[in-house]
Amino acid sequence: NDQTESLRRKLEISVRGGSVPAPVLSFTSCSLPQKLLQNIEAAGYEMPTPVQMQAIPAALIGQSLLVSAETGSGKTCSFLVPIVSYCAKIHCGQLPTEKKPLAMILSPTRELCIQVEGQAKLLGKGLPFKTALVVGGDAMAGQIHRIQQGVSLIVGTPGRLIDLLIKYDIELDAISILVLDEVDCMLQRGFHEQVMQIFRALSQPQVLMYSATIPKVVEKLASSMAKDITVVSIGKPNK
Ligand code: ADP
Ligand code: MG
Repeated sequence: NDQTESLRRKLEISVRGGSVPAPVLSFTSCSLPQKLLQNIEAAGYEMPTPVQMQAIPAALIGQSLLVSAETGSGKTCSFLVPIVSYCAKIHCGQLPTEKKPLAMILSPTRELCIQVEGQAKLLGKGLPFKTALVVGGDAMAGQIHRIQQGVSLIVGTPGRLIDLLIKYDIELDAISILVLDEVDCMLQRGFHEQVMQIFRALSQPQVLMYSATIPKVVEKLASSMAKDITVVSIGKPNK
């Protein structure tokens, strides 16, 4: 409606495809677990950033998204909040060993994965939410052991994840959310085939893709991964 339109214009949010919920102006207006709201507050986040205002409510209702917003605009939290919320709700009441991974985040480098997992831990503190980091440089045995003990979220680089999947049997059938962070990099030559190999092992997850810039070729590849993808861009067009 008109109100949503003018709010988006003010926040420089543009949306294409699907019927996308209106941006939210506060974290409390999304129905999030109380503990997650407390963790957001403890992180010092008073208000959502524009990308969070639009992407969080859309992701929470299961939409697949291709999001572009400049570096430093808070993209990480915009996919972690829906993931923590979803996992905490599903895993509530389950024994640790019953917990199959429900979400997976792929990122191009070990360092980025470490940062994202660190933020995930902060947001998931005190909730039934555990994470596993799957990157090169650490022993595979420890990584698989952690997953087998029950985790909600796997954060990893495609190469190491494939190595792990080849060597061990990991149940991926419950993974309902797949994030491709730095998607412009993840769907370019080099990474694309690895990402698709992992994607094919999943059962049609909701796909959330984020980057600072999204070339047309990446948008085309992204559209092939989920039907009804919503494209969200933050900031002035053609910047
Ligand atoms: P991007 O992935 O878009 O480059 P990040 O997700 O790494 O950006 O976030 C950049 C910085 O902004 C981080 O230090 C993060 O803690 C901070 N941040 C994220 N969301 C908020 C918020 N709602 N309020 C204040 N700071 C935030
Ligand atoms: Mg980022």
